[in-house]
Parts: sequence; structure tokens; C-alpha cells
Amino acid sequence: MTLHRELLTIDTHIDIPFPDGPNFFEDTRRRVDLPKMKRGGMAAGCFAAYVAQGLRTPEANWAAYGKAIAMLTAINAMGSTNQGARVCTTADEIVQAHADGVTIVVPCVENGHAMGGELSNLAAFRALGARYMTITHFGHNALADSSNPRADLADPVQEHGGLSELGRAAVGEMNRLGMLVDVAHTSKNTMMQAALLSRTPVLSTHSNVRALCDNARNMDDEQLDMLRAVGGVIQITAVPGFLRTGKKADEVTVADYCDHVDYAVRRIGIEHVGLSSDFDGGGGFSGWRDAGETANLTVELVARGYGRHEIAALWGGNFMRLLRMAEQRAEQHVSTAVLAAV
Ligand SMILES: [Zn+2]
Repeated sequence: MTLHRELLTIDTHIDIPFPDGPNFFEDTRRRVDLPKMKRGGMAAGCFAAYVAQGLRTPEANWAAYGKAIAMLTAINAMGSTNQGARVCTTADEIVQAHADGVTIVVPCVENGHAMGGELSNLAAFRALGARYMTITHFGHNALADSSNPRADLADPVQEHGGLSELGRAAVGEMNRLGMLVDVAHTSKNTMMQAALLSRTPVLSTHSNVRALCDNARNMDDEQLDMLRAVGGVIQITAVPGFLRTGKKADEVTVADYCDHVDYAVRRIGIEHVGLSSDFDGGGGFSGWRDAGETANLTVELVARGYGRHEIAALWGGNFMRLLRMAEQRAEQHVSTAVLAAV
């Protein structure tokens, strides 16, 4: 449909198969690759350098950081301009690439464990283009409590009561570097504290609404209201278990997904809601199995009465607003300091 093709559609959370995943430039079993993005009218994707939570020994910390750097390097390699994709690390670059008809790759980091306990490593992530870092994944880390403590890591229900001292410092450093603070996967306390602490509005790059699906990964009304209060955004995501309790992927539909969008929009307003897939990380259901089916979401949103400007806001406008705010509030000298360090 014409409207869908004209929009700057940004999927704010996609994982990459690593280290031996199929080629991004070919149509493969990956849920997201360049041919599927082109076919489905997905203009841009935030691709995550994801590190699973593990032990916090010096060796494990070093390994986590090394893996994140290797993944960010792989994500940068996806932006090979002669094959129709481009890595973009600022809002202006995204706008330009969209005007040029080039598919957009935005690097990101998932799980603050990737820092390896060293605050200064955030600058290295930013130097490789990372525009957000998710504070936690499943399992508490040195920065904060997760929504899902890990029994196999001997996690208590709460370890820090939200953000640790290092976690608070990391929020400040991300603000300074112009990286967004992603509160997906964090505990409620972590999320509420980060929302109040961060100089730029926090977002969840992939979470849903707890009132519709009672899962620890989803946000309750108090959290949604906090996002509205600080100017943040929730990017509704396509993980079946976060959309409909007890339903399999084949039983979950685009309508179920858009019910979460509707709820969040009614509660906190269109400017605080966005869309994401978590493809290749657990996302995908009947009607949005891969990036090639992305237009189905726009069709459903139109059927539900959303207008062009509202759909544009959901599909990337709100995320772009946060990116620009993060850039404006970053310390201006950082870019040259980072460049000098690498
Ligand atoms: Zn995730």
C-alpha cells in the first residue's frame, strides 16, 4: 500500500544470528534480512549486539564486552552501501538514507552486562554507532535488577532495589554520549528510577502492556503513566508470550498486537507509543512472521482509524524525536573525544 511505502518505518528491536548466521543480504530463514525488509517496506531496523547474562567474574566481563564489540562490528558490516543498506547513527543520517531509498541499519546494545563493569566501555559502543543500550536482559546484572531474576544465576528477587550505583552512572554516561536508555527487560523499580534519573526520556524498545497480558516483561499502568510523564515511549513488540498469555505464535494475530497499541495509545497518548518486532529474538506471529509481512501492521492500523500522522508517529516518528533529544542533550565535545580514543 502506498501509505506504508511512504513512511519512515523503524523497527526498534531486532536480533542478529551470531556468529554464524545466514547472510543479511540474501533471503534466508532469518526473519529479517535485506530482501525481506525491502519487500515488507521496513525502512529501518535497530539491530542489537546482544550479550546473555552470565557470571560477573573479570574473565566473564571481558568476554561479554568482547562479544558486544564483535557483534557491533558485524552489524556495521550489514551497512554495506553498495548492497542497498547503510549504517546510520544520527537522526539526520536516517532521514537522508530514507530519502535516498537506502535500507537503514541502526546499531544498538542489549544488556548492560556487555559493558563488562567498565563505564568507559560505553564510549566504545557509541563509537561503533550504538544508539541505545538495554540496561538488563533476563537476570540481574551489575547495573540493575531485571524483570526476570535468574534462578540458575542465584538471583534474589531484587539485588539492588532498582539501579545500582554503577547503573546510575551508566544512565548518566549514556545521556552524555547521546545514547538512549532502554528499560525493556528491567524490573519496575529499575524502570521507574531510570525514568526519573535520565536527562533524555527513557524508552522500552520491546515491551507490551501488562493489563492485557500479565507477564513480568510487560509494563503496568503506573509504568506507562511514568513514560508519559517523562516524555518516553513504549515500543509494542511481537513476542507471542508478551501479547496473549498461553497462546502459540500461530494463534496470535496482528489484531492482538494492535490491541496492545490501542491500549497504550488510549492510556498515554499517540506520541508515547511505537512498534517493534524482536524478530530473530523471539518475535513473530501469524500475520507478522517476518519483515516481509510488515505492511500488515499498517493495514490493521488504518482499519482501526489511525490517520497518516498517527501511523507515522507510531512507525518511527516518536523514536526519531527521542533520538534527536538524545543528540541535543549529549555533551558536544564527546564526538571528538570518542573519535580521538579509537
Ligand atoms: Zn530482548
